[in-house]
Amino acid sequence: MNRWPLTIRTRLTLWYTGVLLAILLVVSALAYSLLRWSVLHDVDQALVTTAQVVHEASEEVAATTVIPGPEAALRELLGPEFYDKFFQLLDPEGRLRARSRLRRGGTLSLSPEARANARHGRPTFETVTLADGPAARILTLPVVRGGRVVQLVQVGMSLETAQRTLSRYLTILGVLVPLGAALAAAGGALVAGRALRPVDTMSRTARRITGEDLTRRIPLRGTGDELDRLAETLNAMLARLEDAFAGVRRFAADAAHELRTPLTALRGGVEVALRSARSPEEYRSVLESSLEEVERLTHLAEDLLLLSRFSVTVSAPRQRVELEPLVVEALDAGTQLAHRRGVAIASTALAPAAVVGDAGALRRALLNLIDNAVKYTPAGGKVEVSLGREAGRAVIAVRDSGIGIAPADAERIFQPFVRLDAAREGTESGAGLGLSIARSIVLAHGGDLTVESTPGTGSTFTIYLPLA
Ligand code: ADP
Repeated sequence: MNRWPLTIRTRLTLWYTGVLLAILLVVSALAYSLLRWSVLHDVDQALVTTAQVVHEASEEVAATTVIPGPEAALRELLGPEFYDKFFQLLDPEGRLRARSRLRRGGTLSLSPEARANARHGRPTFETVTLADGPAARILTLPVVRGGRVVQLVQVGMSLETAQRTLSRYLTILGVLVPLGAALAAAGGALVAGRALRPVDTMSRTARRITGEDLTRRIPLRGTGDELDRLAETLNAMLARLEDAFAGVRRFAADAAHELRTPLTALRGGVEVALRSARSPEEYRSVLESSLEEVERLTHLAEDLLLLSRFSVTVSAPRQRVELEPLVVEALDAGTQLAHRRGVAIASTALAPAAVVGDAGALRRALLNLIDNAVKYTPAGGKVEVSLGREAGRAVIAVRDSGIGIAPADAERIFQPFVRLDAAREGTESGAGLGLSIARSIVLAHGGDLTVESTPGTGSTFTIYLPLA
């Protein structure tokens, strides 16, 4: 369990702020190092210029130890530029020849690296920390004449100003980056909140929808975006739920109604029998008709159970079922009823086919179809049952030459408790559950049950089942 459940809004804001902060940090680090590089580059450029001026001035004065000479000349030449710089002139061995007075403290040191570079006529830039102050940048420039190093010009410049600039820049970044992140967090929270508000509205509406009031729908905003599509999906689901609830209510009402008829008959018979003393024969006849009603009730209860078992796509036993013997058995069972009603019954074209499922349930489904075919075929008609294969499916067709079904009723008859008027006139009409049960069983086996019929000519009910 998550002890601190974060809302999507918080999570979006955190992510947004985190990513923006990372970007700000990277950009700031890049900007800082670019600035640092360019400041140092400027310092180096200035040192090179100064070194050249110092060198030229020292040539002019041609002095070896005349201290004020080059400096005065330099002041003239460079003007205010010179104030933050200092220099010294050395002989090739590194001995001091002249130096500026501006330099506080001792002499500039000549590092072994600078000495080695100078020997090869190469200039050296170094950053050193002076004994008396901040870091300084020093250029050691060898002066070569006739292929020989004749003099070393060392020019230094304090990095104080540059460092102050850089540290001020860091301070500014230190304020601006957190400020930017804070503004991003506030903006992110606002945007996320706005984007998620419809979700809140949706969940509030959804909470108000209960089993009692499934007619409510989640309002669409008409933007056609993801949230509208989600609302549409939820509304479609609600419509299906509403249908299913209505179906369940209808089913319960119909079932109660169906149960009431035999119970009323039963009660009426018993009440009449009890009203006065009867002869044993009379009691017997009441008991017999009572037994008939009880049998009807038992049958109805069994049908209801079966329907409820198969309408929730069940765990039917998964066994291999050979269809040929199953069809033959069902046909035998139907033969008795057919003979009684003067209807011819026969099988045509039986091909071997096997499916996986519940043999008892499949037999029941087929029996219901054969039963109906016989029941709704007038005497002298015929019923044919065939078994074949087609495109990976087993096909069982029950064809009759009976009263048929009007096209408008073709789908309706598969609903529980639906009986057509034509059938009601007949004597053996059931509770109207036979076809619902048959279809539930076939659907639970991954198959399909369809009907084709012409009123007055006959009907064909076809079961399709996936082959094993
Ligand atoms: P019932 O118990 O009334 O037979 P079913 O669910 O088996 O209930 O059938 C529903 C209705 O479909 C029947 O009442 C009848 O009107 C119609 N029906 C079913 N089979 C046939 C058929 N072979 N020919 C004509 N009508 C049929």
